[in-house]
Amino acid sequence: MRKIDLSRRVMLGDFVIFGCGLCLSAVVAPAAVAQAAAKKMSQSAARYQAQPKGDRSCGNCTNFVAESKTCKLVEGSISPEGWCNLWSKKS
Ligand code: SF4
Repeated sequence: MRKIDLSRRVMLGDFVIFGCGLCLSAVVAPAAVAQAAAKKMSQSAARYQAQPKGDRSCGNCTNFVAESKTCKLVEGSISPEGWCNLWSKKS
């Protein structure tokens, strides 16, 4: 009888551990996706250039952060006169 109780306890423990694993993966996976999405692209990958492209420049791009002269999507220091292929018109 005691042996059966112990195996039930062990099985219950396995289910609890398995269930917690599922819960953790549900929490950790979206966080990992968000972290990956937050990683910026290199300037060369974005084809960043220090000059504007026509009337398109970082200064009129929605991703430009004027206070820090940075970009939400591209790494490093960004000139307001620059441009890259991720340009998106500031509304
Ligand atoms: S996304 Fe916009 S602000 Fe960022 S580097 Fe490209 S053009 Fe400049």
